[in-house]
Amino acid sequence: MENDPDIIPVSDPRAQYLELKGEIDMAVAEVLDSGRYILGRAVGRFEEEIRTYLSMEAVFGCASGTDALILAMLACGIGPGDEVLLPAFTFVAPLEAVVLCGATPRFVDVDPYTFTIDPNGVEEAMTPRTKAVIAVHLFGQCAVMEPILDAARDNGVVVIEDAAQSFGASRHGRYAGAIGDVGCFSFYPTKNLGCMGDGGMVVTSDERIGPRLRALGNHGEVEKYRHEMVGMNSRLDEIQAAILLAKLPLIGKWNTRRAEIAEIYDGALGDVDLEVPVVAKGNSHIYHQYTIQVERRDALMSHLGRLKISTAVHYPRPLHLQPAYKRYAHRCVGFPVSEVLSEKVLSLPIFPHMDDGQVNRVIEGVRSFFLSP
Ligand SMILES: *Cc1c(COP(=O)(O)O)cnc(C)c1O
Repeated sequence: MENDPDIIPVSDPRAQYLELKGEIDMAVAEVLDSGRYILGRAVGRFEEEIRTYLSMEAVFGCASGTDALILAMLACGIGPGDEVLLPAFTFVAPLEAVVLCGATPRFVDVDPYTFTIDPNGVEEAMTPRTKAVIAVHLFGQCAVMEPILDAARDNGVVVIEDAAQSFGASRHGRYAGAIGDVGCFSFYPTKNLGCMGDGGMVVTSDERIGPRLRALGNHGEVEKYRHEMVGMNSRLDEIQAAILLAKLPLIGKWNTRRAEIAEIYDGALGDVDLEVPVVAKGNSHIYHQYTIQVERRDALMSHLGRLKISTAVHYPRPLHLQPAYKRYAHRCVGFPVSEVLSEKVLSLPIFPHMDDGQVNRVIEGVRSFFLSP
């Protein structure tokens, strides 16, 4: 059953490997042969490529997207007594980063159409203790950044972007992760730019933050065995960097194919009883996920499962209702949009190597749920 070729997965990182097998095998072999497995040539070259791609001053490869967020918080000096605003509807990692740094998370509800943090909510939630906002560019499109940047600037608040799901997405021509003060990325295998293990990256053009990021991820070292700050061990490893270097040239093509599939879905699912994803004005969406909203979500999910079409729920429980974090759910009214979304969202298969036949099967599968007697 697992290997049934008829099953359409939600994503297919192996297909990217097969497209690039020659290059990747050779790149990995080169690293193995070099004898330098940590902070060697591949990491340096990858960081340089990203610096050019994103036009950022400082790029630091680290061990995961979660670490990227932790390093961003530490580099900005955020800790106990500080409040950090973040969306209630997202993956748990940014929340972990806030709490592990000793700061206090403050949830903000999200926009019901784009799923990204509600800028009005950000302004309302700011207090004199607010030190940072984490804007998550969820599912492949940027949060509506301008009002957040304005409110942050007026209040001396740092804007951290979680671009883990949005490599290559842009807003008004600026890349996700290169809009605020610090950008965080993940190269987890199923992200739209993924390696073949764990990996992440932090970027900034702020000259106070850049050098701190690099040192913090390497034991707080500024020179060999001189530790100027309490750091950690979080480095991108050479093998993963070599794989990312092989994949980077194809990210534009892959993101374009994702958007093409999304356009086909949009056109074919507009007349059935579900809501297709909405793109905020000014955004170029790369569709890390194609997430619909539908009332009978679980029934549709089972229906598609019977047709061998995999789907996923991102995310079934908002952060303020997660057992480990309930004490931060400070509002008695809750976060109603996040709560409703967690019951209605369903992500359909979308990945660059999905062929038109698979796309049509998904469309027919969804339509048959609504149209069959
Ligand atoms: C995947 C993800 C992360 C964490 O990345 P890891 O590399 O898995 O640690 C952070 N934020 C968001 C929004 C993510 O989707």
